[in-house]
Amino acid sequence: MAGVLGRVVNADLGRPRGPDASHRIRVPHAWLKRGAVVELELPRHLVCAACDGGGCDTCERSGAVTVRERGEPADLVEVTLPGEQGDTFVIRLPERGGLPPQGSGLPRGNLLLRVEPSAQADPSVTLASRNSIFELARRALSTRPAATLRYPLVLGVAAVGVILLVIWLTLRR
Ligand SMILES: [Zn+2]
Repeated sequence: MAGVLGRVVNADLGRPRGPDASHRIRVPHAWLKRGAVVELELPRHLVCAACDGGGCDTCERSGAVTVRERGEPADLVEVTLPGEQGDTFVIRLPERGGLPPQGSGLPRGNLLLRVEPSAQADPSVTLASRNSIFELARRALSTRPAATLRYPLVLGVAAVGVILLVIWLTLRR
C-alpha cells in the first residue's frame, strides 16, 4: 500500500523518473551577460535535490545521487546561459539527474543546475566550442529577437567584404 501511495505522490510532482540532483557552477559575469553556451562535466555523484544533501528516502540517506554507472564516460552538459540575470539562478535540465532504479525503465531525474556569477569560471566549466562566428551567425539569423547578436554578423560580413576587395585590387594590377 505504501508503494502505491508513493507512486501517486510522485505522479503529482511530475512523471515518474530517477532522483533529482543538484549541482552548482560558477561562471564569469561576462559569459552570463552575453548568454554564452557553456559546457561542463558532471561528477559521477551529485547532491540529492530532494534533501539538499541531508539524507532522505530518495537517496537512501546518503545525501547523494549517482548520475552514471561506474566506468562510463563523464556526462558533458551543454547549457545556454539566459543572458542578463541579477544573481544566482537555477536552470532545470530534464533527464540529466540521478539514474532511475535499475530495470525500472524510467528516465533519469532532473538536474537542477545552480549558476552563480563569479570572477572566474570553475575549472570544470568551459565555453562550448560552438561559440564560434558560425554559431553567432546562426543565432543572429534565427527568428529570435536578438538584436545584439546581429552586430558580430555584420562585422563578419564586412570583414569578408574587405578581404575580397583587397584580393580583387591585387589581381587587377
Ligand atoms: Zn536525499
